[in-house]
Amino acid sequence: MKRTLSLFLCLCLLTACAAGDSPASDASTPTEATESAANTEVAADAEFTAQVFAMDTYMDLKAYGPAAEAALAAAQERLTALDALFSATTEGSDVSRLNAAAGEPVTVDAETFSLIQQAVALGASTDGALDITLYPLSKAWGFPTQEYAIPDEATIQALLAHVDSSQIVLDEAASTVQLPEGMELDLGAVAKGYAGDVLAADLKAAGVTSALLNLGGSTIRVVGSKPDGSEWRIALQDPEDESAYAGGLALTDAVVDTSGGYERYFVGEDGVTYWHILDPETGAPARSGVISATIISENGLAGDGLSTACFVMGVEDTIAYWRAQQDFEFILITDAHELYVSEGIADSFEPLGNYADAPLTVVTYEEG
Ligand code: AMP
Ligand code: MG
Repeated sequence: MKRTLSLFLCLCLLTACAAGDSPASDASTPTEATESAANTEVAADAEFTAQVFAMDTYMDLKAYGPAAEAALAAAQERLTALDALFSATTEGSDVSRLNAAAGEPVTVDAETFSLIQQAVALGASTDGALDITLYPLSKAWGFPTQEYAIPDEATIQALLAHVDSSQIVLDEAASTVQLPEGMELDLGAVAKGYAGDVLAADLKAAGVTSALLNLGGSTIRVVGSKPDGSEWRIALQDPEDESAYAGGLALTDAVVDTSGGYERYFVGEDGVTYWHILDPETGAPARSGVISATIISENGLAGDGLSTACFVMGVEDTIAYWRAQQDFEFILITDAHELYVSEGIADSFEPLGNYADAPLTVVTYEEG
């Protein structure tokens, strides 16, 4: 989906515009600007769209009704501001300052503090499958710069010595974060989910009751229902065929977070595919058998973190975690072409394309 979104480059980036009456159901199809709605009465189903490049991806925002145009302009600014705090590659961001000052406490914005605090808690609850301190490993594999390389085992082990988000020292009263020397952060696994939560809350506060926020394909947040009252339809990318969908979801007021190896990967000289989601145990791309993990929830930050964690944990550990937590739903796709769908979302999910006839297990709270 990320690749499809590169089409957005041709559109008017960083502008909010009134759009025609094109369907709102397809999260991956950009809408051309048609006319300005200024000075005219705005209908409840009038569609406004905005595109923004933030958090290393193209984001496509759609909102409906009289409050939508101003709210989307504010949303664009908010996304740019969050990116300026959370980016690991932008000089002067909170995360860059933390990484440059490992060993010393650094005062950060309250939002950065809260995001790190919640990501550390999720790391603990997933037994370390989510670890926001993997950045030195991501760099060794070349993912941030796309200058890919396969690090040798000694390099991996040396860098792994600095990976452990439970070692981050958080001082809430002072709003400081202190990384041990050698540690570096990357909030890429949780930032988009958090951003979707912020945007949805802002849009609702501005009076928007219907919106579809596609934050780069991997986080899709729907506000309310479609303007006609029907549910949003969200398509899941086929992890093995970028031109196809693996399934469709019908949803109201929810966030869908997907982690897939297909989002960023390279094929090594050894012919092996290496993707960007790393296993904190090995320092190498996670090989759990799960090739796409989708979390459906109301909390985008948790959903984003958990989609990454479940990709690392694999089917069995995800099921055990879900049975213990019971506050999200999941769809897992495995390298054996199987689907695992939690019972709370099974009725809203329809497998499509190459997955229409794939083995599908509905996972229940009760074992057996
Ligand atoms: P997502 O697309 O949400 O699964 O996030 C993947 C991004 O998070 C990667 O591009 C890395 O920047 C970072 N990352 C990779 N593996 C992990 C992990 N196990 N825990 C936390 N962050 C990770
Ligand atoms: Mg994630």
